[in-house]
Amino acid sequence: MTEKLACAAIWMAGPELWRVQLFMVASPSFFIYSKNMIIDTHSHLNFKVYDEDRAEVIARSQREGIVCIDVGVDYDTSKKAVELAEKYNNIFASIGLHPTESEEFNKNKYLELVKSKRVVAVGEIGLDYFRNKDKERQKEIFIKQLELAEELNLPVIIHCRNAHEDVIEILENYKLNGVVHCFTGNLDDMQEYLKLNFYIGINGIILKQNLDEVIKQCPLNKILTETDCPFLGKEKRNEPGFVKEVIKKIAQIKKCSFEEVASATFQNAKNLFKI
Ligand SMILES: [Zn+2]
Repeated sequence: MTEKLACAAIWMAGPELWRVQLFMVASPSFFIYSKNMIIDTHSHLNFKVYDEDRAEVIARSQREGIVCIDVGVDYDTSKKAVELAEKYNNIFASIGLHPTESEEFNKNKYLELVKSKRVVAVGEIGLDYFRNKDKERQKEIFIKQLELAEELNLPVIIHCRNAHEDVIEILENYKLNGVVHCFTGNLDDMQEYLKLNFYIGINGIILKQNLDEVIKQCPLNKILTETDCPFLGKEKRNEPGFVKEVIKKIAQIKKCSFEEVASATFQNAKNLFKI
């Protein structure tokens, strides 16, 4: 479809369709934001579990007006995230080595990936003392990647499990911005991250675990919505569209509208990731 035809279609179909059509006419390097957009700041559309029907899953997310940060967990998934971000205008990439992966961290390989303008963050990186007991190795790789983020002037996406004390202590040494993804810590942990100017990543875990008090006390301008798909959904394989359930729940807890939460969190993502 040519741009002129697309514009004509938008004109005829009215506002309901214009968001979808904009996706069709905008190339990745010329992304146009529209009203009512939603952000999923943590998806793994790069995972093999989407190999069969990835294009359909992404098309669904586009129809729903969802912009995704596609997050790598090692070199291969980071590379895939960059490829997807280069191909689809509603996807941006984050590159990094997850603390439970056994890969050796090779900075030069990741630097190659960052040549793409679609890379907006380093992550997911961090510490996981629940699944990986080798604390020293994890810290070493985490620090190397924080230094990489600092060098590249990019925000970080943090994975933290049973390790908030150490993550906070390490982050205090850096002037970095970022998000603590899938936050499940307590109120004190949250306050420490807010002091560091970090955002709090909230996903479908709030439908299973009671994080109401954290959500109540976290200012809306510090919350980022996410799915962590393919994990943490209602179905066996989660998708970006599930972020709407997360937004609904936040709105219910904060006693405000869906639109208020969606637009504030979208703006937060724009501020953090410069998208
Ligand atoms: Zn993840």
